Amino acid sequence: MAAVDAFRADADWARALDAADPLHAFRDEFLIPPHGDGAQTYLVGNSLGLQPRGVRQALLDELDDWARLGVEGHLHARHPWLPYHREVRAALAEVVGADPIEVVAMNSLTANLHLLMASFYRPTAERHAILIERHAFPSDRDLAASQIRFHGHDPAEALIELDADEPNGTLSVAAIERTLAEHGRRTTLVLLPGVQYLTGQVFDLAEITRLAHAQGCVVGFDCAHAAGNVDLHLHDSDCDFAAWCSYKYLNSGPGAVAGAFVHARHAHAKLPRFEGWWGRNAATRFEMRPEFDPAPGAEGWQLSNPPILALAPLRVSLEIFQRAGMQRLREKSVHLTGYLAWLIETQLPDTLEILTPREPDRRGAQLSLRVRAGRAAGQSLFDYMTAHGVLGDWREPDVMRIAPAPLYNSYADCLRYAEAARAWRARHA
Ligand SMILES: *Cc1c(COP(=O)(O)O)cnc(C)c1O
Repeated sequence: MAAVDAFRADADWARALDAADPLHAFRDEFLIPPHGDGAQTYLVGNSLGLQPRGVRQALLDELDDWARLGVEGHLHARHPWLPYHREVRAALAEVVGADPIEVVAMNSLTANLHLLMASFYRPTAERHAILIERHAFPSDRDLAASQIRFHGHDPAEALIELDADEPNGTLSVAAIERTLAEHGRRTTLVLLPGVQYLTGQVFDLAEITRLAHAQGCVVGFDCAHAAGNVDLHLHDSDCDFAAWCSYKYLNSGPGAVAGAFVHARHAHAKLPRFEGWWGRNAATRFEMRPEFDPAPGAEGWQLSNPPILALAPLRVSLEIFQRAGMQRLREKSVHLTGYLAWLIETQLPDTLEILTPREPDRRGAQLSLRVRAGRAAGQSLFDYMTAHGVLGDWREPDVMRIAPAPLYNSYADCLRYAEAARAWRARHA
């Protein structure tokens, strides 16, 4: 692939790069929303990934199997429903860098984090604080604060919020280390993102885990913006638990079934948990015994039999990830987002400021942008882009997020973003 200094703001050049991209054919496996006679320039897969073409047939197959087989579909559907969550397990593990026993597809993201915290947030009178970041996604703050209150403590005292210490609102490892040195002994859980939703910063999971474990803290990661985006190594990071949603980079549809990770060292520990029959050992589940015998690994946190219609899109999507390969996707992503950053820095330096870290290993697909002329101008640009079929998203107070997804976005998409922003600037200068 071309080096950074070989980038060019030229449509023929972008088209040639797309033609030479070994992953370019995957774009045709997705339904890109129309705009006028063409397609949108869809740069918002960080919020809702696009629909793989195969999803419709997979759903129709399940509906047919239900119609044809009724209850016997549990064993005789094309993809039998009883062990359905196992159909996605290996591929899901691969995407997040885990062993199959460490992952399960279930519920939604926030629900999974609560279930995992029931096991991994075990506060005592002396030690009950949770460390999050000041600008955590609201749901993450809500779940940490409510868990603290649920256990009879006060978030005003027990919720420690890390302040960003870098100019664009990003957090250094040194800041995390300082806060842990100061508050580690009263902190029992560290809950941080894999990729920060607002700034797009990638966190060093292994290093954070090492620092937090050294203080005796349990470590969990919210990988909503990391799963399917960056090359995760959840097992090697040594964190205790993690969860993510599947509707962002994992393209599994609105409200898709989420994922959960429990490190293998806890696979056979009889940790306290909120129990349900699907978390029982599959071998004895149907013996209907009174005592709960947990399935080993992450599956032991399941409550209910899985929602087949909601899992079918995840199965289709993960099959695409398996063919593309997370490592190849990440390589393309680094280059593609590098091109978009280069375009913004060279074509629009007086208009847009990039908040996301510059170093490729500190960012994923997403770039967070601020319009230099202020919030009103930012909204004007955002509205103009949307009207012209160039989709990003807006996060209050003044951040525009754009994320070229390597499975379906192209170099031409990046160039169209820059050209549309320049057209807006020409009208508003
Ligand atoms: C997208 C996202 C969520 C959404 O939570 P749901 O339970 O899926 O609605 C939560 N946390 C973070 C960090 C997110 O990026």
